[in-house]
Amino acid sequence: MATSLSTPKLSTTLSSPTFHSLYKTKLSNFSLSKPLLYNCVINPRSRASSLCYGRRFAITRAETSFTNGAEPPRQYDFDLFTIGAGSGGVRASRFASNFGASVAVCELPFSTISSDSTGGVGGTCVLRGCVPKKLLVYASKYSHEFEESCGFGWNYEAEPKHDWNTLIANKNAELQRLMGIYKNILKNANVTLIEGRGKVVDPHTVDVDGKLYSAKNILISVGGRPFIPNIPGSEYAIDSDAALDLPTKPNKIAIVGGGYIALEFAGIFNGLTSEVHVFIRQKKVLRGFDEEIRDFVGEQMSLRGIEFHTEESPQAIAKSADGSLSLKTNRGTVEGFSHIMFATGRRPNTKVDEYSRTSVPSIWAVGDVTDRINLTPVALMEGGALAKTIFAGEPTKPDYRNVPCAVFSQPPIGIVGLTEEQAINEYGDIDVYTANFRPLKATISGLPDRVFMKLIVCAKSSKVLGLHMCGEDAPEIVQGFAVAVKAGLTKADFDATVGIHPTAAEEFVTMRTPTRKVRSSPSEGKAEHDTKAATGV
Ligand SMILES: Cc1cc2nc3c(=O)[nH]c(=O)nc-3n(C[C@H](O)[C@H](O)[C@H](O)COP(=O)(O)OP(=O)(O)OC[C@H]3O[C@@H](n4cnc5c(N)ncnc54)[C@H](O)[C@@H]3O)c2cc1C
Repeated sequence: MATSLSTPKLSTTLSSPTFHSLYKTKLSNFSLSKPLLYNCVINPRSRASSLCYGRRFAITRAETSFTNGAEPPRQYDFDLFTIGAGSGGVRASRFASNFGASVAVCELPFSTISSDSTGGVGGTCVLRGCVPKKLLVYASKYSHEFEESCGFGWNYEAEPKHDWNTLIANKNAELQRLMGIYKNILKNANVTLIEGRGKVVDPHTVDVDGKLYSAKNILISVGGRPFIPNIPGSEYAIDSDAALDLPTKPNKIAIVGGGYIALEFAGIFNGLTSEVHVFIRQKKVLRGFDEEIRDFVGEQMSLRGIEFHTEESPQAIAKSADGSLSLKTNRGTVEGFSHIMFATGRRPNTKVDEYSRTSVPSIWAVGDVTDRINLTPVALMEGGALAKTIFAGEPTKPDYRNVPCAVFSQPPIGIVGLTEEQAINEYGDIDVYTANFRPLKATISGLPDRVFMKLIVCAKSSKVLGLHMCGEDAPEIVQGFAVAVKAGLTKADFDATVGIHPTAAEEFVTMRTPTRKVRSSPSEGKAEHDTKAATGV
């Protein structure tokens, strides 16, 4: 089966699959003769010449021909065997079962920290990603809110104190509750849950801790795991799994990485009053995001006390006699850290076609393991599309156009559609509307908080191509506007919408004058940059 993708494949380098992957388009030329083999062990029981183990799977020509030939009709234990009960695996299994398939899913035993032998039903999102991260974001926001409240007349007899153990215990109780809900979802959908580590033995056989199961289709949805680069002293570093479940709150933490996970954790620990240093290889954070958003969020986070060390790559970590850690970079050494966290990437990777099929026709893959857009709602979309394709007779391609996303930094970011740079490349002539203002709340709180909003409009069709916001509630606001952008609405539709006053969101429907008009056509001369003051009146 052809493995080169006919739709743009969104991808990143292995070392930093951040949200950048949302925007960097690349065609993957997966060749059957070059298996993407990683941590692969040959299983003597296997009939196929190359096997797929662990979180990386290799599909070889031998396996392809195994199934391409006239395979005799066969009875299987299951119609679908899913390896990994995270977002994508649970969604695909549940939907497949609803379409009448007999389905089993295997998942590693629970732990808050993932490893080769631990995981848990619910996967990264529920246990080590979106959910625990957002709970910690909520916890960390209070310090800023306490500060804001003073201008509104609140004062505190004593400085509010935070108890880390309460937070972590409550967070873990919530994770247990959610894991129970996920197990019930599978049970209610008649999906057989098997605890253990799944390994693909051949195109129709999965080994779970020594027990073999046959299946007409196998789904690989094993996600990814955080990755710490191998530098001297890397054994002292922690990853995002550990950072979400630390026994004590860091006093002073170094966060290495400029992607969304790094920024979110920087905001969490800053809000919880740790001293936070962020080390990034580049000049700016959030590679792949709109340039103005990158600048704006960096400035706002700096104003909240986070120290950014730009163009600094980690070279070594050392532990001193008092137990504190120092981080040596290409530019010098910063000492006195209680923790050093790496948020430099996660390991994927299996190649699939646009229907999530690998080069072996009976083996499919969805979610982060395929390294397309590494977000929970995308894994859900891929899982649902896969179940429809195989079991509902409706070949369905996931639709990657205008996938909105958020960064839960402080202030947070919400985006949908193209960046200004992408819009210029794709459409040439665009009108850009921006607003950079002090929100009403900051007038009385006295804090230096600002909001940045941006609309990118196709000059020819007037279609809104991109919508970006950094400021309080940006993810909630942009989720709503994402419907409009996905529906292909025009600037005129935005203008015709009455605002909700007084909100920051109303700015998106009251931006009247372009901040700049970018024109590439020689007949219209050079790029034109008309500037306006964003009064919003
Ligand atoms: C810190 C962090 C924050 C994030 N925040 C967000 C966010 O705010 N919004 C968002 O949309 N996305 C976020 N993500 C990304 C999101 O969590 C993932 O995109 C999503 O979980 C991918 O789902 P999945 O099904 O592909 O994989 P996973 O959810 O990772 O599930 C894979 C499952 O497979 C299991 N497994 C692995 N190997 C085996 C095996 N051999 N046998 C059996 N089971 C196995 C694992 O234990 C795991 O449970 C975040 C990720 C991280 C790390």
